[in-house]
Amino acid sequence: MADNRIYNFSAGPSMLPVPVLERCAADMLNYQGSGMSVMEMSHRSKVYDGIIKETEATLRRVLSIPDNYKVLFLQGGATTQFAAIPMNLLKTGKADYALTGSFASKAYKEAQKFGDMHAAFSSKETNFDHVPTQDELDIRPDADYFYICANNTIYGTEYQYDPETPAGVELVADMSSNILSKPVDVSKYGVIYAGAQKNMGPAGVTVVIVREDLLGNYPLEKYPVMLDWKTMADKDSMYNTPPTYGIYVLGLVAKWVEDMGGVKAMQERAEKRSSMLYDYLDSQDFYKTVAAKDSRSHMNVTFRTGNDELDAKFAKESMAAGMSNLKGHRSVGGMRASIYNAMPIEGVEKLIDFMKKFAEENK
Ligand SMILES: *Cc1c(COP(=O)(O)O)cnc(C)c1O
Repeated sequence: MADNRIYNFSAGPSMLPVPVLERCAADMLNYQGSGMSVMEMSHRSKVYDGIIKETEATLRRVLSIPDNYKVLFLQGGATTQFAAIPMNLLKTGKADYALTGSFASKAYKEAQKFGDMHAAFSSKETNFDHVPTQDELDIRPDADYFYICANNTIYGTEYQYDPETPAGVELVADMSSNILSKPVDVSKYGVIYAGAQKNMGPAGVTVVIVREDLLGNYPLEKYPVMLDWKTMADKDSMYNTPPTYGIYVLGLVAKWVEDMGGVKAMQERAEKRSSMLYDYLDSQDFYKTVAAKDSRSHMNVTFRTGNDELDAKFAKESMAAGMSNLKGHRSVGGMRASIYNAMPIEGVEKLIDFMKKFAEENK
């Protein structure tokens, strides 16, 4: 069954580990003797309660999430959290954002509806080719939080450090496209959140990891109950029907990460995959990289030939060779190889072989 799969370099939804998909298939008609699939189960049932609890416990182990953090499984994608973050966190009404790409900019724009927002950094003028160094950050000391997009999926840039914030300014991070790819010191963050469909599971579930003392400032009398993290935390993500199947798959992915050696092993694999690509890119001059060297992402590798027609030809011919979704995002152009946890080394080897051949044929 797995033999005829192709290497899918999609930025998201993206590849899932084959053992996880096989497990889903085996569980499909009758989940562990329950007589039904996970999709058909009441979220209030005992069996499902076991699934969501196990998903949370596994994620907590894998990411070493401290006990004073809540883990929420929500709907609406990462984009809904662009609003939920200021709605839940603002106290003084001020927050600061590092504008490092489309998603950070969208989050900033959404937050402006709720208070006084300030750009602590922007790389817009150079088409978001880098993330800031600590020295470049201009964070207001009276801001409620400072927001980063930890990995910029579209531009292929990634923070290689956890930014420091002035005392009392909570660090908030969108880790949609690099969560579970390396160890993270959760205690440095007030909130970490991520849509699942890049590196954690299928689309439809968003994880929010929030320190407990940050809950309870939400103006429930005027904002929708669905976006109140405290309501969701108090109800164990079951205020209403949670995205049941996605949570189950996310649990299997987290278990797969654990069985493979955890996030440390994922980091080693990610560094291997990405350095194979960057080493090749740096060794030749047919392709140019897009991201500045010290900002390069381990998850999304962006490059171009400098000729739009050749880029289009690359996308087409790589697809014919069994590698899908290598076309870059429309705001960057060129190519993008998304190489998340589930991408085997063989996929990257095959891509590099193809790149060499393509360069030879189109010089
Ligand atoms: C994909 C992505 C988003 C948007 O996620 P949705 O689930 O589609 O709302 C936000 N941030 C980052 C970093 C992403 O990669």
